[in-house]
Amino acid sequence: MTYRYDDQNIFAKILRGEIPNQTVLETEHSLAFDDIAPQAPVHTLVIPKGAYVSFDHFAAEASDAEIVDFNRTIAEVCRIKGVMPQEGRAGFRMISNAGADGVQEVPHLHVHVLGGRDMGRMVE
Ligand code: C5P
Repeated sequence: MTYRYDDQNIFAKILRGEIPNQTVLETEHSLAFDDIAPQAPVHTLVIPKGAYVSFDHFAAEASDAEIVDFNRTIAEVCRIKGVMPQEGRAGFRMISNAGADGVQEVPHLHVHVLGGRDMGRMVE
């Protein structure tokens, strides 16, 4: 499978420092920043620094170090934002949209971390 990555996408520009962002956490391989159009009191995006279009691309080609770093960054964002489910009623939802049917707007892998309110059931 060959993946084509558009290095003019908005998250690539954020990673190059061409567009500002509200950084929550930066690690060796990942960046987490608050979504500019939050859908919940907590709405943070976690992206790998590497040029991966979507989750399937990342799973296929990222190094183990990148994959571990990405997962731990998501968990650390949940801690920072106070939505770890162990803490009272708090909890979170992770979503990663991919491709046309997934309605992915920005073609650089990102996980949405949403919380701070009851997220409701995911139904059609
Ligand atoms: O998953 P999807 O690609 O649809 O989501 C892209 C997300 O990126 C949106 O939630 C949008 O608000 C966010 N965004 C952002 N900063 C930008 C451009 C888009 O947080 N500069």
